[in-house]
Amino acid sequence: VSSTEQIKSKIDLVEFLREQGLVLKRAGASFKARCPFHEEKTPSFMVSPEKQVWHCFGCSMGGDLFTFIQEHEGLDFAEALKLLADRAGVQLERSDPRLEGQKTRLLTAVEAATDFFQRELAKSESTQAYVHERGIPSSMVAQFQLGYAPDTWDALTADLLKRGFGLHDLMEAGLTISRDASRTTPETRASDAGYDRFRHRLMFPIHDAMGRVVGFTGRILEKGTCSGRDPAKYVNTPETPAYKKSEILYGLAFAKKAIRQEGYVVLVEGNTDVIASHAAGIANTVATSGTALTIKQLTLLKRSTQRLHIAFDADAAGTGAAARGIDAALDAGFDVRVIATPRDEAGELLGKDPDACITADVEMWRYAIANPVPILDDLLSILQRSHDLREPSGQRDAGQVFIARLAHVVDPIERAAWLRRGAEMIGVPEQSIRDALQRSTPAAQGHRHSELSEREHPSKSRHFSPIERYGNRILALLLRFPEQISEMEDGFSVDNFSTERQRTLYNSLIRRYTESNGSGASVDVSDFSSRLELLVDRVYGEFDAAQATEELRRCRALLRRAVITSHLQQISSRLKILEREDSPSVQKELLELGHSVQDLTNELATL
Ligand SMILES: [Zn+2]
Repeated sequence: VSSTEQIKSKIDLVEFLREQGLVLKRAGASFKARCPFHEEKTPSFMVSPEKQVWHCFGCSMGGDLFTFIQEHEGLDFAEALKLLADRAGVQLERSDPRLEGQKTRLLTAVEAATDFFQRELAKSESTQAYVHERGIPSSMVAQFQLGYAPDTWDALTADLLKRGFGLHDLMEAGLTISRDASRTTPETRASDAGYDRFRHRLMFPIHDAMGRVVGFTGRILEKGTCSGRDPAKYVNTPETPAYKKSEILYGLAFAKKAIRQEGYVVLVEGNTDVIASHAAGIANTVATSGTALTIKQLTLLKRSTQRLHIAFDADAAGTGAAARGIDAALDAGFDVRVIATPRDEAGELLGKDPDACITADVEMWRYAIANPVPILDDLLSILQRSHDLREPSGQRDAGQVFIARLAHVVDPIERAAWLRRGAEMIGVPEQSIRDALQRSTPAAQGHRHSELSEREHPSKSRHFSPIERYGNRILALLLRFPEQISEMEDGFSVDNFSTERQRTLYNSLIRRYTESNGSGASVDVSDFSSRLELLVDRVYGEFDAAQATEELRRCRALLRRAVITSHLQQISSRLKILEREDSPSVQKELLELGHSVQDLTNELATL
């Protein structure tokens, strides 16, 4: 038995999809849910518990457990295999060539480094004391896998080399820095080839959305006196094949469930803000790594929520890098709101960041995150403070900032409502804002259907033609109600089907029913027929035989109508060509086409 089969036998697809946040409802022998791969209001994502396959009738994506996790988490096959094997408790052969990908090797090295740093933290009492002082409980140290990089030049590199990792991989993983021969070599105990990037630092592993460690942030513990210590407050893993900063949200793996439960995500700036929030039970909190929100990060979030509560430095939300992220979030259809930093009784800010606010008064913080201000209200109050709105020049400048943001509000009704409020606040007629918006909009429109919406509507997605659609419905009905094939036999030609697999499946259904064993099919239709069995549950879940007969007749007529319409269109374009020519053979073809049109039109009238 192959490892993939073993894994599939141990993980139930339906259960797995539920854990991934899909709301699956019974539909006949199958389950249905709203598709996680495209926007939809009515469920067209079908799952067969018996066959352990899924298919979406909206965007045409489908497959098994492996394809789902690959598509959903953006993994390649090797990564999906490793992840699911771990989960199913299936031991993979180490020599499996599919596991030898570079990214997998780097992830294994990073995993070993995480273990190393955790062991070092357990040994270092002073670092443990520091962690305690910072108010990080031991449950969070364990969950976020905090560690300690010892105060040496090459402890990690030496340890991992001893464990059989290649130096090149350690460098590629961002753990080891190549010794630069042109510079004066650091004297103490440095290995010949390279030295540790992280030295004497509190280590925060960075997990991807699936909870795998992909990189690290190392925080300084004390100002270094030793010349070998990097004075930077934070040292980060550089971009590697396994770690792309713009694709990571810190804490997301531990926040997904809470985000779905709460219905929104709290976005903060620092790792320690995330840990403090999770420690206080506010687990729907994640952080960007000091970058503006990217399309990729928004795509990750969109799987869990469309509501974004941002706890950034208030004024930063209006301009600069943070503003670009907010615009991207609005473009992607997120409801973006700003968390106002709570103030104490004296009117002073409760704390400089979420971590400090939580320490000062967690209940006030809880209230603040649950009662955020809509992003445009926030912007308007910033503009009111920063511009003199009694002066035309102040009104003009404020109007420009407001319009730039307003152009990213996708919903037309919401946009109109904000337009009214903004005009009132700035003190100008609505029409002037509307005019200015129209002038600025073409650029904004260009961005709107950008990367994110393309991802949401994968290129695989396509619409079935009526001919193919009704063909599928007929076949789906025949799979469920095989005896109904008698409805079809009379005067229905297999040529009405438009695809080879439809014709193959239809012929094999006829053969199965008449029990004469025909020759083997030239096209494998097993995937196709399991997809159609999902279709029958989705569309005809509750049908009895009588309803099936009626539906089959209806689909047959509709298919025939679509086929005839398509024929007539072909004839009409052929006629246009023939009209321009003039020869005896053309006369003959014209006559034949004329008869065909007559026949087809007559048949159309009877349908
Ligand atoms: Zn879909």
